[in-house]
Parts: sequence; structure tokens; C-alpha cells
Amino acid sequence: MDLLSTLVDKGLRRETPTREEALAVLATSDDDLLDVVAAAGKVRRHWFGWRVKLNYLVNLKSGLCPEDCSYCSQRLGSKADILKYTWLKPDQASQAAAAGLAGGAKRVCLVASGRGPTDRDVDRVSETIKTIKDQNEGVEVCACLGLLSDGQAERLRAAGADAYNHNLNTSEATYGDITTTHTYADRVDTVTKAHAAGLSACSGLIAGMGESDADLVDVVFSLRELDPDSVPVNFLIPMEGTPLSAEWNLTPQRCLRILAMVRFVCPDVEVRIAGGREVHLRTMQPLALHLANSIFLGDYLTSEGQAGRTDLEMIADAGFEVEGAGEVTLPEHRVTAGGGCGSHTGEDAGCGGHAEAGCGSQGVCGSAPAQGTDEQTVPGARKDLVSVRRRGAGTDLAPNA
Ligand code: SF4
Repeated sequence: MDLLSTLVDKGLRRETPTREEALAVLATSDDDLLDVVAAAGKVRRHWFGWRVKLNYLVNLKSGLCPEDCSYCSQRLGSKADILKYTWLKPDQASQAAAAGLAGGAKRVCLVASGRGPTDRDVDRVSETIKTIKDQNEGVEVCACLGLLSDGQAERLRAAGADAYNHNLNTSEATYGDITTTHTYADRVDTVTKAHAAGLSACSGLIAGMGESDADLVDVVFSLRELDPDSVPVNFLIPMEGTPLSAEWNLTPQRCLRILAMVRFVCPDVEVRIAGGREVHLRTMQPLALHLANSIFLGDYLTSEGQAGRTDLEMIADAGFEVEGAGEVTLPEHRVTAGGGCGSHTGEDAGCGGHAEAGCGSQGVCGSAPAQGTDEQTVPGARKDLVSVRRRGAGTDLAPNA
């Protein structure tokens, strides 16, 4: 296909595709799907080789959020039966982080529910970051605490944070349909603050909330403009008890097309498959590794992922290798430009932020635009694969790592 040759050439040159080209990727047929994956895979391997970066989520504070993000199981009024707890102590967080690092992760993403941190919360998280860094040499730490006030990004950076995650989640045009308690502009402002403070910016999206192809392309082009070092792509997990629980819009093929489009638009950026990987890609996960160069190991914020050991076996079986602590994630030109992820030779990188579609969304929480409550179930949706997290941080049970 001429389209794919053009997109590969542009990806290798870091040239932005046109909106029409991005839309055309989302509109490709199943007959062309493997060609799309192969083309985007060439771009992925050009910038990231066969490496897969592993990230590990630690939910520092779970549930009871005053915000109303409709995709999120921790939102105001959520009926989801998730774990709810207040701030983990620094040693508890460090212990949780150590499990992920022992499993092969090089980055720990510290996430807390809430609109944004108070200055006291920033002190608390700063202490946690220092404890984790003292106890785990070389670890990259990303914070995801919601909207930042002036000066807070600088304080987190001074405490040793390498990255900050805050996702745009969806297009500016549809943002008001999924959240009313803060705005798209608030989210852009926080990503900009993190960037300005020298933190590696991590910002991504949630697909499957009932958005159009044009919305998906809009948010990905907006992300390219913000120039984060990493882009987590969440696939909505329609958790029972949230407004978007009926939005089962995704197929494995749709997820692959979305990841390919993100790779073509953001060719040299860490593209991370985040929440919803197991639920929506299912047995097609190994193909998605040809598009994304980063995943989360183990569980998400409020839902379970597949076993960490299974993640590692999948990476090896598909011919990829886990990125080591001493390897720089990002291509050289992004490192020298001061980009975060990867700019910390072997010790910082990335992005974090409300993983799990809950606050930033790298993890689980899903939601869908307010389009009514009609069920939107695609054939073959596997609702049985959604399980609430009951182990790891905030419990006495061993984490999945
Ligand atoms: S996404 Fe974050 S801010 Fe929004 S409801 Fe969930 S925890 Fe709160």
C-alpha cells in the first residue's frame, strides 16, 4: 500500500503524517492489518530495536477521589468494588516497588487518586521517592498525582522524580463529556509544568470510550504537539460501577490499528500499552509488541493484569528482550534534547501518572462519553477477564510481579 510506504518513510524521518493518513490507518481492513503492523513495526524497530521497557505501578492512595472522570473506578460516586486506602508509608511503597523491580521492571510509577496533591502530599511523596531510590539503586521513578500547582513539579524533581505522568485521555472536543470537575486545559497545563521543571513528560490517552476516529487522531496529534517522552495507550476497561461500564467497543484488531496510528504519529517516543492490554488485545498481545516498546508488568491500579511471569514469557516468545536498567530508553536525539525518559542514563526515564485509567490513566478505569446507557458490546468482548485487584499495595498479599 502506498499509504504504508509513505508512513514508514515519514516515521523514519520523524515527520508528522497528515491527519488523513492517520485516519486511513484506523480505517484499514482486516485484510491489510498484518501489513499495517509490519509497517509500524519497522518504525518501532528503527527507534527502539527489539527492546521492551517494563514499568511497575504502585498505587499510593486508592479510591475516594472527588473528581468525576467517568472512566475511573476511583471517581466520585463510583460503585466499583475496588480497594480503598489512604497513603502508603514510604517503606510500604518501597517494598511494593522492589517486587516490580525484582520482576524486571526498570521504572516505578507512583500513582495517587485525587484532583492533585497538596503541598503536604508533595512532601509525603518526596519522602517516598527518596526511600525508593535509596533502597533500589538505578530505579527510575515517575509520579502521577493529578493536577500540579505552581512549584510542585520542581519540588518533585528536586526529590529525585525522573518523570511525571498526566494523560490528556481524549480529544479537547469530547473532554467535557467524560469529566466535568476539571478541564482539558487543566491537563495540558500540568503536562507543561512537568516539562518545564525538567521532568520527563508522560502523557497518553484512553481508547474505547465511544470516541470517533477523528477524536482519537485529535488527541494523538495534540500529544505530539506537547512532545512527551512517553505515551501510554489505555484501552478502556469498563469497570462495573462506573458510568462507562457498558462501553465494550474494542476488538484486538481495533487496538492494533490504534497502536499503529500512535506509532506513526509519535515514531520516536516510548509508546506504552497500558490498562486494558489483557482484556482487549488478549491473545494478540504479542503482535502489539511490534508497535509499542513498553508495557506495565503485573497488575494495574485497581484491576489485575496477567501474571508477571506470563508477561516475561510473552516477550521472550515473541523474540523481544526486556530493556535492562543500564540501557537508555529513548533515541539519542531525544536524550540530548533533554527529554526525560531515557535521558537518565540508566536511571530515569519516564512517565507515570495516573496509571490505570484512573487519574491519568495508565491502568484501569474506564469510562465513556455521556452517550446514554445503551450497551455497546462488540462481538467477542471478554467481560470475564476483568478482575478487581485484591493483592499487592494496600493489602497483606504478595503483589503480582
Ligand atoms: S482519573 Fe484521577 S482525578 Fe479522575 S476520578 Fe480517577 S483518580 Fe480521580
